[in-house]
Amino acid sequence: MIEDGILKAISSDGTIRAVIATTTNLVADARKRHGLSFTATAALGRALTGASLLASFMTKQGQVTLKFQGNGPLGAMMVDASPKGTVRGYVENPEVELPLNSLGNFDVGAAVGSTGYLHVTIDRGFGMPHQSTVELETGEIGEDINRYLVDSEQTGSIVITGTHLTSEGVEAAGGLIVQLLPDANEDTVCQLENNVSTFGSFTFLMRQGMGIEEILSRILQGFDVRPITEVLPLKFHCKCSMERFVEALKVLDKESLLSMANEDGHAEGRCHFCNEVYQVGKDRLIDLTNRVTD
Ligand SMILES: [Zn+2]
Repeated sequence: MIEDGILKAISSDGTIRAVIATTTNLVADARKRHGLSFTATAALGRALTGASLLASFMTKQGQVTLKFQGNGPLGAMMVDASPKGTVRGYVENPEVELPLNSLGNFDVGAAVGSTGYLHVTIDRGFGMPHQSTVELETGEIGEDINRYLVDSEQTGSIVITGTHLTSEGVEAAGGLIVQLLPDANEDTVCQLENNVSTFGSFTFLMRQGMGIEEILSRILQGFDVRPITEVLPLKFHCKCSMERFVEALKVLDKESLLSMANEDGHAEGRCHFCNEVYQVGKDRLIDLTNRVTD
C-alpha cells in the first residue's frame, strides 16, 4: 500500500494551483480507532482528506477545523488538520450504517444530511481564529467544501474526495483541490472542465496503481505543472496525552477527586478525537488531592 502523502503544485503560467493527497492508511487508522461503520468510514474519510487538503493552504503552523453539522443520522462530524501533515477527527454516531445509494456508493449525503451547516475555523497560530459557516450543499463532503471555498475565496474550485472500502477494509482514500487563480482565462476553464469529465474516480485510479504525481497530471492534463513542495507525509495524529488528562483533573476540587478515588477507584477519560482511554489510579488521585488547595 502506498504511503499517505500530500503534494502542492502550480501551473507554469500561474493560472492554476492544486493540492492532492492520498490518505488510505490514516482513514484505516481512524476506522479502527473509532470502530466506524462502512458509511461512517466513507464520510469521515472524505472529511479527513478534505481537512488535510485545506490545511496545506496555510504556511507552516496553524490548524483548520471542519465541523459538519447536518440533519442525518451520523450526527456531528468534527475534523482538524495542520499544515505539518497531521489530521484527526470523529463522528458522533460511528455505528450508523445506511444502504448504498442509487449509484451503488456509500450514502454519505444521507448519513451526514443535506440540511445543516459546515463550520470552518482557520487558526493561523497568531491573532484571532477566523470562523465561517456555509449551508451544506449535499452532505457529500467534497461539494460542501467546494461551497466553502467559493464563498470564502470567490474563486472557482474543483474538490474531489473519495474513500473506497471493501469487506477487507479501506482499500484507497484520497482527494484533491484544484483552484483557478485570477489570471485564468476561458481556455483554462474549458480544459479543466474537460479534464474533470474524463477523470473518473480518484480511488479507482489509486487502485489501478497510479501514484500521487500521476493522478495530479491526469487532472491537470494539458497544463505544464510543477510541484512546489516535496510529498509531505500525512498521518492520523492526536494531541491528547496522559499529561493533559492529569492537567484536566487538577481543575477539579478535592471532594470530586476523593469521590472518584474512593467510589470508582480510578478516574477515566476518553478522547473524542482519537478514542484513546486514559486511566488515573486511586493512589495518583489521592496524591493529586494533596496538591489541590481549596
Ligand atoms: Zn486524542
